[in-house]
Amino acid sequence: MGEKTTLIQPLRRYLREDRLPTVFCPGCGNGIIMNCTLRAIDELGINIDDIVFVSGIGCSGRIPGYIDADSLHVTHGRAVAFATGIKLFNPDFEVIVFTGNGDSGAIGISHLVHAARRNIDINVISVNNLVYALTGSQTSPTTPVGAYTYTSPYGSVEGFFDLCELVTSAGASYVARWSTVQPQRIISSIIKGIQKKGFTYIEVISQCPTQFGRKNEMPDPKQLMDWFRERTVKLEVAKKLPPRKISGKLILGEFADRDRPEMANEYRKLIEGVQRGTIKLKRPQLDWLELSFRE
Ligand code: SF4
Repeated sequence: MGEKTTLIQPLRRYLREDRLPTVFCPGCGNGIIMNCTLRAIDELGINIDDIVFVSGIGCSGRIPGYIDADSLHVTHGRAVAFATGIKLFNPDFEVIVFTGNGDSGAIGISHLVHAARRNIDINVISVNNLVYALTGSQTSPTTPVGAYTYTSPYGSVEGFFDLCELVTSAGASYVARWSTVQPQRIISSIIKGIQKKGFTYIEVISQCPTQFGRKNEMPDPKQLMDWFRERTVKLEVAKKLPPRKISGKLILGEFADRDRPEMANEYRKLIEGVQRGTIKLKRPQLDWLELSFRE
């Protein structure tokens, strides 16, 4: 029976089955994203004991609670800060953060920006359900213009915050955005992100039928997923279209894939240099022209 179960669902070995079923509403995108993450880990053959999961507050923050691995469920907006500390403590850990659009795009935004700037080798999987879901459907930084929420009963008039553009500008090594209708793309990006030495940010537009869908006349998860197909456009396609054709649509794709010095590695080099005595507290003859604003 055990063998048969493994064959049918090989990812079960990563789960804390004693905690199932999850608290997620039926049709929530969180299950798809957890599944994609576990598939990426399984495909890479990483020992789950070498991974530390960190999550903040929000529905997506519950994901690590169902994975049989070390995890920290931390305070609102601080998941990236905790992950930074873990990575600097032991750079051999693979650190994966689950965060939401409220957790990372509002209260935790400065941690997000500076982690991208430092290019610390952590992998952020950002579940963007377009609303503050856990607390009952308030407008979030990524709520689409015109969308109805509990705090925008006449439709939101705030602009959509493109967090992928933000972290790309800040210096992240790898940045991608997909939606839950593209699980294979999500898996490929998580694999790339884990393999990349540097800060990686993978945003997934995810359906929240309960707090976003019901308020916007899409209570069925399939309606939301059809709407994602309708209102998104792939980056390669968008580049060939006139601006009026992509107006109001969200761009999906890979926005950054580059190599930059990684913070934990630079710290390790610094510590080793100081210990060897090749790096001094103060250089006797500092050449000011050597100071650099770019790598
Ligand atoms: S409220 Fe929305 S995001 Fe939260 S579990 Fe339910 S469907 Fe998922």
